[in-house]
Amino acid sequence: MPLSAALNTFAGNPLDRASYRRVDPEWIAARRADDTTLVAVFWNGLPLVKNVGDQGARLSFIGAPMAEAIAESEARWVFLGLDAEEMAVFAIDLDGSADPTASALLGHGQFGQLRELAPQLPAQEAAMAATGRAVFEWARRARFCGACGNPTEPAEGGWKRVCTVCAHQHFPRTDPVVIMLPTQGERCLLGRQAAWPPGRFSALAGFMEPGETIEEACAREIAEEARLETLSVRYHSSQPWPFPANLMIGLFAEVAPGDGAPDQTELEAVRWFTRPEIMEVLAGRHEVKPPPPSAIAHTLIRAWAEGSAG
Ligand SMILES: [Zn+2]
Repeated sequence: MPLSAALNTFAGNPLDRASYRRVDPEWIAARRADDTTLVAVFWNGLPLVKNVGDQGARLSFIGAPMAEAIAESEARWVFLGLDAEEMAVFAIDLDGSADPTASALLGHGQFGQLRELAPQLPAQEAAMAATGRAVFEWARRARFCGACGNPTEPAEGGWKRVCTVCAHQHFPRTDPVVIMLPTQGERCLLGRQAAWPPGRFSALAGFMEPGETIEEACAREIAEEARLETLSVRYHSSQPWPFPANLMIGLFAEVAPGDGAPDQTELEAVRWFTRPEIMEVLAGRHEVKPPPPSAIAHTLIRAWAEGSAG
């Protein structure tokens, strides 16, 4: 039995996070001094990749000694975990305006946008990169204590920051987003945001709010955006979405009779589709264009149309 009904892009990180090792600074230091340790590299949130082309791309790992030489401070490291051979895998985050592949990382590949590279990367590498990126984006925003305003410093292999004055502990955020396909018997509803590429329709989505269950957030978003009443909610699968730190919770929502209407704030249009129409959309034979395959919305729409929604 697989863990999930679908393995969405950025899911399936193969590393053993070995979180018990994070609290062992001597072990972390020893792995960072170990020639066999692999280090993924980010520069301003962009992963270092190699072999970008028709055959796909790969993450470009460097050795720990080289990473030590180019990473200027403790703040730039995160321990990602152990691979199948028990080798430690870290990531470092570089910043500055000068592209490191023009100097220290010359010949080690190029930096690119993870969102665009994800379909080309092996799924497991995309998932590792998503983890690193999410932690670094959080660390970038958590440099100062939210409680007292003083600087924080990293701890536990980069998975925690501690205030240097009040000792408040800060942990990486993951902000849950509900993303759902409203259904009404044999038809489903897609919505369109004005900012999307021409023709694109997709599932509805919105941030969960404090004090809400997943089901309640789903029903609220459908009521707000499409003016429809939700009768029942079913979970399908989820997706880490590190832009910067979301967890997309994929759902099917059966709604009460009615055509609904776009709110004209989030959505400029809503439209109903039958299963055969959705198959035409997914096949590229329809005026409506689907979300890209890397998006969980695509997974949900396909699962419903193929009758494999579970
Ligand atoms: Zn503080």
